[in-house]
Amino acid sequence: MKKDDLIVITGAGGFIAGALTRYFHEKGFTHIRAIDKKPLPEWYQRVPGVESLCLDLSERDTCVRACEGALEVYNLAADMGGMGFIEKFRVECLRSILITANLIEAAYQAGAQRYFFSSSACAYNTELQKEPKARALKESDAYPAMAERGYGWEKLMSEMFCQEYWAERGMKTFIARLHNVYGPLGTWDGGREKAPAAICRKVIEAKDSGKHEIVIWGDGTATRSFMYIDDCVQGIDTIAHCDGLIATPINLGSSELISINDLVSLVEEIAGIMLQRKYDLEAPRGVAGRNSDNTMIKKTLNWEPDTALRKGLKTTYAWIEEQYADRKAGRRH
Ligand code: NAD
Repeated sequence: MKKDDLIVITGAGGFIAGALTRYFHEKGFTHIRAIDKKPLPEWYQRVPGVESLCLDLSERDTCVRACEGALEVYNLAADMGGMGFIEKFRVECLRSILITANLIEAAYQAGAQRYFFSSSACAYNTELQKEPKARALKESDAYPAMAERGYGWEKLMSEMFCQEYWAERGMKTFIARLHNVYGPLGTWDGGREKAPAAICRKVIEAKDSGKHEIVIWGDGTATRSFMYIDDCVQGIDTIAHCDGLIATPINLGSSELISINDLVSLVEEIAGIMLQRKYDLEAPRGVAGRNSDNTMIKKTLNWEPDTALRKGLKTTYAWIEEQYADRKAGRRH
């Protein structure tokens, strides 16, 4: 790829695609088109020198506009959030299929050479995730299919779009099944945030208010792995440029498993505080246990996401603390 070839990144007003835009810009790519339906002032980051457009990609014409002249297309746009969002708004999650259907066709018509799709660990069979000590999920565990309702099924269908555009039409497509991603410049309040950001915010609020307690969703025994954003964008770049992975879903996640209780302890340690825990057993909690089996990524790319959770959380906590202070001082909403 030449440094002035056009890269299109969708969902760029959001967390991961915003970081991916910055990553390619810093790698020296001079022609990047970043797109999101959010108004520009609401993007988490705007990278100077990048063409930034506010377009709703659920419509055909905007997808055609988005892909004009594109050599590579990275589709990370989706209506999504943490468990609180995806359990409650399944229709919105399913409607992201419109983005896939219109964008992949527009990318194909524009002659794009590579198309990347951000799938999710929520595409895996939920039957395999009923215990906190569930075995790590390997790529073949998505079928027989029993994905997370709404969000997970949309991801599975979108994966299939990618596979058929390669099989029938010869466009190189790439699919990463992302496991929970965290880091600075992502959602930390408002209802779409995921566990690490939500826990950081709750600990900061408790510290600030002097009310030293924390409400944890579920009973705290559920387990997950969390991937730092820098590993995520590096992984996306590597996967999208590995011809051995065309149309082949691959896990992109950390394999460092932790329970929600231990995640809270880690954040408390970073914050230098101990809180009294209350458990909300009515709150959305998702599957009991989920981890990423990284055998395939290690074998194919000789690499896996390996930023230690403690290290990544420290940076994330500091960023959220700054945002919290800014909001309190009236410098943000
Ligand atoms: P995010 O919500 O921060 O970013 C998604 C962006 O897509 C948002 O800014 C949103 O405005 C935009 N968008 C939604 N509908 C759109 C439309 N019709 N047209 C244009 N833009 C639209 O989410 P994220 O965490 O950055 O996730 C990016 C991708 O990675 C998503 O596809 C998500 O499903 C996937 N993923 C994320 C995680 C994670 O832990 N964050 C895990 C698995 C998969």
